[in-house]
Amino acid sequence: MPRRGCYYTAPFSDLKRVLYLKISGIQKASEPRIIPRPSHNVSRADISKSALKVLYRLNKAGYQAFLVGGCVRDALLGLHPKDFDVATNAHPDEVRALFSNCRLIGRRFRLAHVRFGREVIEVATFRGAAAPADGNGNGNGFDSDVAHDEQGRILRDNVYGTVEEDVWRRDFTCNALYYNIADFSIWDYVGGMDDIRARRLVLIGDPVKRLREDPVRMLRAVRFAAKLDFTIDHAAALAIAETRTLLRNVPPARLFDEFLKMFQLGHAQRTFELLRAHRLFELLFPETAEHLDRDENFLRFVERALASTDERVAHGQAVTPMFLIGVFLWAPVTRFAEELREQGQVSDVESLAVAAREITLMQQSRIALPRRFTAPMCDMLAMQPRFEVRRGRRALGFLEHRRFRAAYDFMMLRAEVGEVDRETADFWTAVQTQNQEQRLQTFELSAAKKRRRRKPRRRRSAGQA
Ligand code: ATP
Ligand code: MG
Repeated sequence: MPRRGCYYTAPFSDLKRVLYLKISGIQKASEPRIIPRPSHNVSRADISKSALKVLYRLNKAGYQAFLVGGCVRDALLGLHPKDFDVATNAHPDEVRALFSNCRLIGRRFRLAHVRFGREVIEVATFRGAAAPADGNGNGNGFDSDVAHDEQGRILRDNVYGTVEEDVWRRDFTCNALYYNIADFSIWDYVGGMDDIRARRLVLIGDPVKRLREDPVRMLRAVRFAAKLDFTIDHAAALAIAETRTLLRNVPPARLFDEFLKMFQLGHAQRTFELLRAHRLFELLFPETAEHLDRDENFLRFVERALASTDERVAHGQAVTPMFLIGVFLWAPVTRFAEELREQGQVSDVESLAVAAREITLMQQSRIALPRRFTAPMCDMLAMQPRFEVRRGRRALGFLEHRRFRAAYDFMMLRAEVGEVDRETADFWTAVQTQNQEQRLQTFELSAAKKRRRRKPRRRRSAGQA
């Protein structure tokens, strides 16, 4: 990972960092520390043309316009930001009025999306400081449009405010730096510059309260720590330990989005280690976690899969979530299939398919895995015994199966940890490069048999269709 550090002058004093006003439950920032353009390394060359267009147009129309969040953080760290978030005092309707290519989205957070071809610039109006006074949604008169559940989780948040209020809504200090298009300075209310330099993730405000408001921030902490090679600040780590079970209250669909970000962006291995270290993994994949604790071979299998996923991402190769989910569920599925066989409930052949379906259903109560991933994943798992059969027509036909490639990659991974013998793995590797004639020999089929004509299928009557 490139490590071009950020640089700037005049360190932010600790006193200033904690200096914010608490007025009737409202947190307000003190004056920001403004880092002028010559004192930081965020250049317009790091910013997408589309984001610049949005910023300039807002600014020209008389609104404040900042880049904020991951893009500023990544640019300071010398990484290439992957998306650009804009924060402004223009209300969503005012943003829409400025851009013909704009759409308003979201209920939980109302946002404007300005589209340029495939690129979308997200424009958020500053959020107001309407923290719940008592953690149960009874606010202070400002939060008529902020809703919390009984654990303090924010359900909806559409109160607009100023930049000094907006800053307290953000999760980590490193994500709360505002790049001002008016003069290219960076506004720092919370000591984010210092924390970036020290490579630490610090939650803004009271860590326990912030995690209660949105338990997904625990996963974000782990994700950023893995991606940026940051340490999770001690207070945040303690707060995670205290509130981690609240992750169970997060809607499964949101966890799937987060799963993709954690495991498909090239830092899966480190994310997994941190999730386990903070005892969060067991809340996301309970069945998997149980097996990991008692089966070292399975742990090695999972680690190999994570490493190869990261390698693929690093080489720009495609990755599909179904593969990794299949890996996570493999031990629970095989164990359950064994139980089913012992109980004589299903045939040997069917046991894996049935177990895969059942375990997937259990997992879906935690993380909403879309069917377009679970269906091929179940096939991939259920097909594993087919690699044991190396002769005959059915074995030859396996090569043409549309899931063969995924099943093969999965089998190779099993071979790496000694679950499949080398000879079998080599056989299926070699046979893929053979021509049809060689394959007939390999699968011990005679050419004549191969050309046998199929019986014409009986037509289905309309009633069966
Ligand atoms: P990346 O895009 O690299 O994943 P990011 O920090 O930009 O990281 P986004 O999800 O794009 O993350 O969010 C943009 C910004 O919005 C964050 O930097 C943070 O300031 C704020 N934010 C996002 N999600 C949350 C959250 N759950 N709680 C508080 N603030 C959040
Ligand atoms: Mg972002």
